[in-house]
Amino acid sequence: MRRVSILGATGSIGQNTIDLIARAPEAYDVVALTGGRNIAQLAHDARRLKAEIAVTAHDECLDDLRAALEGSGVEAAAGAAALCEAAERPADWVMSAIVGAAGLAPGLAALRTGTTLALANKESLVCAGGLILETARRNGARILPVDSEHSAIFQALRGEDMDAVERIILTASGGAFRDWPIEDLGRASLSEASTHPNWDMGQRITIDSASMFNKAMEVIETREFFGVPPEMIEVVVHPESMIHALVGFRDGALMAHVGPADMRHAIGYALHWPERQGLPVERLDLARIGSLSFRTPEPERYPALKLARQAMERGGLAGAVFNAAKEQALDHFIEGRVSFTGMAEVVEEVLTRLDADTDVVDAAMTLDNVTRTDHLARQCARNVMAERA
Ligand code: NDP
Ligand code: MG
Repeated sequence: MRRVSILGATGSIGQNTIDLIARAPEAYDVVALTGGRNIAQLAHDARRLKAEIAVTAHDECLDDLRAALEGSGVEAAAGAAALCEAAERPADWVMSAIVGAAGLAPGLAALRTGTTLALANKESLVCAGGLILETARRNGARILPVDSEHSAIFQALRGEDMDAVERIILTASGGAFRDWPIEDLGRASLSEASTHPNWDMGQRITIDSASMFNKAMEVIETREFFGVPPEMIEVVVHPESMIHALVGFRDGALMAHVGPADMRHAIGYALHWPERQGLPVERLDLARIGSLSFRTPEPERYPALKLARQAMERGGLAGAVFNAAKEQALDHFIEGRVSFTGMAEVVEEVLTRLDADTDVVDAAMTLDNVTRTDHLARQCARNVMAERA
């Protein structure tokens, strides 16, 4: 029996992970499941998977969680410290699928136990890649990518020598507005931005796909994960979302990973690695698909890509600034307080304002400093948005 924990179990990635695990309950011993406000889902899954403990991130939800778990034998807990304690319970495999920078501390807690961490929470690599990798190295933990592009790269690199790699190409669907006139983007609504043409994901990452902040973060994630310099990482718009990423080798070969737009492939690959096991995903009918297309992302449509490169060039904790400003701008977009195109303008302004603050951006990459930088960048983003209002 493999002991597994799922951080962010009630979300889109968490539920896809549970779908795979629930198909073979005899193979898994579920240790911890964590969620946020969706207490009914958390309790339902904790009961049916016979988890040891279920944790909600929010103290005020604890009574509801306790009531929902009454008589089940599953422990209930709440709050940020409880999330980290749950992540620290001995497990062979931990899924990190909390959304946002909130996933950083629990992910680090899991890594300190020396476990295998399946990492969907790209924000933690964007904010604190060096810290994540160092914590894994020091504790003998392994990190496996879950983001579909990074899983694709990881698979294309199997058995290859990194020295032979010339470039890495991330594909992007182009999101909800890839075919809109650029001048209309400023009045894109929340519901329009929350609909993805190809993937069914959580709301935040869906909006980030429309703005390409998601791909921008994935460029940083690629640099951290595979240790390649930014100039070796390219982005191409591929509306069909069939090729998830490509690795280019020095002999001119391009290895492409082709698969259905179903996160259970990447999750299942990380769950069964180093083996490949059967997965309940669609088998592609290439003749029916017919053709695949590619185009260059227009910089005016997707300014987020340039901002990620700016953050990488700045170095230090600029990734944490970039992520926090983006998260805050996204909150405001969801609340209807900033326009769709305003999000990138806010992030650009926050990067510029904090760039000069060497106390912040050049501080050592510790969890405390990353957390402090995250708070300052969010505050700075709120100020920028208040000034614009
Ligand atoms: P969802 O929004 O669907 O789920 C997020 C999960 O995190 C939920 O369990 C939610 O709880 C929990 N959560 C929210 N806020 C907090 C908080 N402050 N503290 C602790 N837990 C919290 O997100 P996704 O599943 O879409 O994405 C999860 C991660 O995976 C993200 O980092 C995303 O970028 C990445 N990812 C997602 C992909 C996808 O297909 N969805 C693809 C590739 C990467 P609740 O809902 O109960 O409130
Ligand atoms: Mg992705």
